[in-house]
Amino acid sequence: MTWRFALVIDPVAADDERGGYRDTFTPIDPSEPALSVGELSTQRGDGIFESIGVVDRHPQEVGAHLERLAHSAALCDLPVPNLRQWREAVDEVALRCPPAGEGVVKLILSRGVEHGPAPTAWATAAEAPDNSRARRDGVSLATLDRGYAMDVPSRAPWLLLGAKTLSYAVNMAAIREARRRGADDALFVSADGFVLEAPTASLVLRVGGRFLTPAPTGGILHGTTQLSLFERLEALGHETGYETMPVSRLAEADAGWLLSSIRLAAPIRAVDAVTYDIDAELTASINEYLLSPRD
Ligand code: PLP
Repeated sequence: MTWRFALVIDPVAADDERGGYRDTFTPIDPSEPALSVGELSTQRGDGIFESIGVVDRHPQEVGAHLERLAHSAALCDLPVPNLRQWREAVDEVALRCPPAGEGVVKLILSRGVEHGPAPTAWATAAEAPDNSRARRDGVSLATLDRGYAMDVPSRAPWLLLGAKTLSYAVNMAAIREARRRGADDALFVSADGFVLEAPTASLVLRVGGRFLTPAPTGGILHGTTQLSLFERLEALGHETGYETMPVSRLAEADAGWLLSSIRLAAPIRAVDAVTYDIDAELTASINEYLLSPRD
C-alpha cells in the first residue's frame, strides 16, 4: 500500500460540539516514525480500527463505519468517539486519496501510551490495492474451526468477538493456514458447526433465490458492505435474510460472495469440496453498485 497522508487526531469528548475540529488534527509525514514505543496498540493490539473504501475521493458508508467504531469502542471500554470529529477527519483524509480510482481511509483508536493520560488516534489515506482479479475470478475458501461455540460472545464478552480490534494476528494466521491447504482465503466455522465469516470479509450465500448471511449475533463483525448490498438487493425486489447457518447450508447454495469495504464483492469458486459457478453478470452489477457513491 502506498501511504499518501496521515493525521493524528486529538480525541475530544463525545458531547464536545464546536464549529469544526480542524484544530484537533495534526498532519504528519506518513513515511516518518510517529508512535511512542509505549503505544499499547503496537505492544498489545489494544485498540480498534475501521477501513473505509474511497472511490474518486468519496468515502463510502461513513455513517455505518463510524457506528461500528462506536460499537467496538463500547465493547473495548474505550472512550465514546465524537462522531462529528471522526467524520470531519474522514473527509479531510479522503481528500488525499487518488482523485480518480480507489483509495483506503483507515481510522485507528488506541488505548494510548502505557500510563499515559489519553487514548491516541490517527487516520491515514492510501491507494487501494488492485482487487480486480478477486472480483472477476473469485476466491476459493477452506473452512477453519474458530474454536468458539455460537454462545461464546454472550457468555464471554471479554473475548471481544464482534469488535473490530487491532488484534488481527489470529485472522492473518487463518489466511496463512487456508493457503497452506491450497485455498485463497479462510472461512471461519464455529466449534458447534455454524458458518461465520472470513478473516477480513463477510459471507453472503444465495440459497433458493434468497441472499443469506450469518447473523451477527455469532460474534462476527456486522459488515458495512453486506449491509449496503442487502439494502440494494431489497430495493431490487430480492429477498435477504440473517440466519444461523449450519455448515450444510454451503452445499445448498448455488452462489456465494465474500464482501468487504476494500475488496468489495469477490465471488466464491469453492468452499472445501463444494464448488460454485461464478455468476459473472450479477457479480459485475454488485461491484458496479459498490463502486458508486454510497452514504
Ligand atoms: N468480517 C471481518 C472479520 C472483517 O475484518 C471485515 C472487514 O475488514 C468484514 C467482516 C467486512 O466488513 P466491511 O464490509 O465493513 O469492510
